[in-house]
Amino acid sequence: MDKYLGKQRRILKVLAIASIGFALGMLLHLKVQTDESNQAAPEKQALTGAKAPIQQPAITPPPAFTVPAKFAGKTFYDVKPDDREKVVALTIDDGPQAPETPQILDILQSHTVKATFFVVGKAVEANPEIFQRTVAEGHAIGNHTWHHWYRRMSRATARSEIERTAEIIQKTTGVKTSLFRPPGGFLNNGLAAYAKSQKQAVVMWSVSSADTDPRAKPEAFVNNVLKGVKPGSIILMHDGGGDRSGSVKALPGIISGLKQKGYRFVTLPELLEMSK
Ligand SMILES: [Zn+2]
Repeated sequence: MDKYLGKQRRILKVLAIASIGFALGMLLHLKVQTDESNQAAPEKQALTGAKAPIQQPAITPPPAFTVPAKFAGKTFYDVKPDDREKVVALTIDDGPQAPETPQILDILQSHTVKATFFVVGKAVEANPEIFQRTVAEGHAIGNHTWHHWYRRMSRATARSEIERTAEIIQKTTGVKTSLFRPPGGFLNNGLAAYAKSQKQAVVMWSVSSADTDPRAKPEAFVNNVLKGVKPGSIILMHDGGGDRSGSVKALPGIISGLKQKGYRFVTLPELLEMSK
C-alpha cells in the first residue's frame, strides 16, 4: 500500500514539475511575442497612416537620477550640506502643464537655474513635448504618481500609481529616477511604503512657497520662501494641478531674492551628493 502511494506521489511530483515547466515556456513565448509586436508597431502605424509615435529627444545616454545609498528607501525634508554651504534645491510639482511649465522653463533658463520637477504621469502623457523640453534643458526629474491621489490605497494600486508613471517618464525621455514625492506629502496611504520598498528616496520639503493658495498674492509666495530658507533647504513650488500663473509671477522674485542672499541653485541629486 505504502509502495503504491509512494509511486503515486512520484507521478504527481513529475506531473507538477512538467506543468510548471510548460507554464514558464508559455510565458517566455508570450514575452517574445509582445517584444516583437512592440518593435513592429511603428511600421504598422506607418502603413495605416496613424499618428507617429513620440520621438525621444537625442540625449545620449538619457540621464538617470539616482540617489546616494544612504538616501535609498529613506524619507527626508532637507539636507545638511558640507560647511553649511548656501545651496538650495527648487522643486516644482504636479506638471507638466501649459502654459505654466514652458513659462517656468523660460524663467529658469534666463537665470541659468536648474530645478527638479516632480511630474504626474497622466500630465506627462498629455504633454510629452513639454516634458521632453524639461529634460533636454538639464532639470532633474522625480516621480509624483499617475493620478495624484491622496487616499489610502492597496499595495497593488500604489505600485501601479508609481510604476505606470516611471514607465511614461522612461518611454517619453529615456529618464530613470529614484526620486519620489508623495502627493500632498501624505506618508501613510501606501505610496511612500511602496516607494521605500523599491529603494527610492521619498523627498519631502522644508520650505513651502504655499503657491497653491488661490487667494494669496505672488509676493506672499516670494516672502514665504525668503523667510524660511536655510542652507540645504528643499523648496516647494507648483507648475500644475490648477491655475499656476501666480507661481510663474513669483518665480523671478524667488530666484533673485535667493541669489541676493548668496544662495546657489542645485538639483536634488546634486544636493544629496553634498550632504555630509
Ligand atoms: Zn503634488
